[in-house]
Amino acid sequence: MSVVPKFVTDTMERMFFRSAAVSAVTHLSGHFRLTEIAGESLKREKWIPGQKVQFHMGGLQTRTYTPISWDPVEGTAEFIMFLHGNGPGSEWAESLKKDTPCSLMGPRSSLDFAEVAEDAIFFGDETSIAASVALHRSRRETQQARFVFEVSSLVESAEAIRRIGLPNAKLVKKIPDSSHLAEVDQTLIDGASGLVTPRWIMTGKAQSIQALRAMLRNRRMDMAQLKTKAYWAEGKTGLD
Ligand SMILES: Cc1cc2nc3c(=O)[nH]c(=O)nc-3n(C[C@H](O)[C@H](O)[C@H](O)COP(=O)(O)OP(=O)(O)OC[C@H]3O[C@@H](n4cnc5c(N)ncnc54)[C@H](O)[C@@H]3O)c2cc1C
Repeated sequence: MSVVPKFVTDTMERMFFRSAAVSAVTHLSGHFRLTEIAGESLKREKWIPGQKVQFHMGGLQTRTYTPISWDPVEGTAEFIMFLHGNGPGSEWAESLKKDTPCSLMGPRSSLDFAEVAEDAIFFGDETSIAASVALHRSRRETQQARFVFEVSSLVESAEAIRRIGLPNAKLVKKIPDSSHLAEVDQTLIDGASGLVTPRWIMTGKAQSIQALRAMLRNRRMDMAQLKTKAYWAEGKTGLD
């Protein structure tokens, strides 16, 4: 239970957060939900693909998610939420139903896909599927993108990706000792070889990003081409 008095968090919520409500929840596959929220407070807002939103979990806690769309006229935004099953954010996302009220801060800066003019090669995990969809939808026809994800369940992630309509995605099954990262590294290199001087974007689990960076450095890759943003880390809560 939070040690901060409720009147303080209520005042904070009114001052700093927008109010909205869930307008639709679609079960994409096993642990993936496509959640749409709607509200007057979402209207007239400028959203850049790659930005984040922080939802209020109560007390002083927030958890971060990535819009895949934001309609400033209708006042709606959509999110792909992965229910990993081990934290208040995941429990909250699982509990959402039509008309559940929510409070949020943002959109706020995180990654900026509007400035990725080159081809792109993207790495992430289940928590990054939303960002990859935001990137894909922001591409012009001449800009290619390829996506590589490390995932716990190939079947669940493949189904979520199929239903949301993300092309050029490859999945690698996670192994607890992280030995699968050698396959991820090779899949990224193969994907990048078909692109013109691509921008590299790495998201998802902090420890995987760190290990892959080291592998790429060993390959003498130009690190100036790399953007990274950790979405969660083993042993840490509410990373953002
Ligand atoms: C900029 C940004 C954008 C993000 N966008 C999205 C998004 O669009 N969709 C989405 O689903 N998530 C997204 N995330 C990730 C999400 O915010 C984290 O997974 C967050 O930790 C979930 O909060 P929680 O309360 O469930 O777990 P926490 O309380 O933060 O953590 C509890 C425990 O769960 C572990 N944990 C956290 N995440 C995972 C995971 N994915 N798999 C396994 N264990 C985990 C932690 O290491 C910790 O041990 C984003 C994060 C950031 C920083």
